[in-house]
Amino acid sequence: MIHKEKTLVIIKPDGVQRTLIGEIIRRYERVGLKLIGLKMIVPTLEQAKAHYLVNPDFPKNVGNKTKKAYEAEGKEFPFPSVEEFGLGILHKNAQYFSSGPVVVMAWQGLGAVGLVRKITGGTEPINSDVGTIRGDFTLDSYAMADTSERSIRNLVHASGSIEEADKELALWFTKEELLNYRLIADEILYDVNLDGILE
Ligand code: ADP
Ligand code: MG
Repeated sequence: MIHKEKTLVIIKPDGVQRTLIGEIIRRYERVGLKLIGLKMIVPTLEQAKAHYLVNPDFPKNVGNKTKKAYEAEGKEFPFPSVEEFGLGILHKNAQYFSSGPVVVMAWQGLGAVGLVRKITGGTEPINSDVGTIRGDFTLDSYAMADTSERSIRNLVHASGSIEEADKELALWFTKEELLNYRLIADEILYDVNLDGILE
């Protein structure tokens, strides 16, 4: 069903360290999305790598996206190979992810994947929109991360597409851990007639 779309969100170690767990959950919750899975863990390096490699093209894609971001600012991409650079990001992301506790969540609702991306904001926090989690609560950039050879610290991971979400959810949750339940608010958001309000 269209309003049962699911997506994966992970509050990365910097989000936990910045004590933003409650603030981040509040933003997804208040829009009307339903939390259907939640756990706090310290991922292993292997888990973190597998997470990014649910899309085998991750190194190539992340390299190309970074190159475009440099070019959009009139700068030259400062690395010899897009793909090799992307592979480096994969390893750095695995270290970043496994450096401390993270909060892994599954959210459900109409257009959940896109809605969560909108609320989360763009990859590079200094250019993420005001009002988004990444734009409001942190300030990292491609250039700063790349010159110190580390991942961009942007507080949250959010699945990029429905296909990616399905694969990532299967990686982090068992079927039993994703809960099927009704919220009172579902009636107001999705019920056709609103005929249950008046006594
Ligand atoms: P998003 O998390 O917005 O979906 P990507 O899927 O492109 O972004 O990249 C995954 C993560 O890899 C980013 O959130 C960020 O932490 C890190 N990252 C991406 N590009 C770079 C880069 N050029 N330098 C450092 N870290 C990067
Ligand atoms: Mg992504």
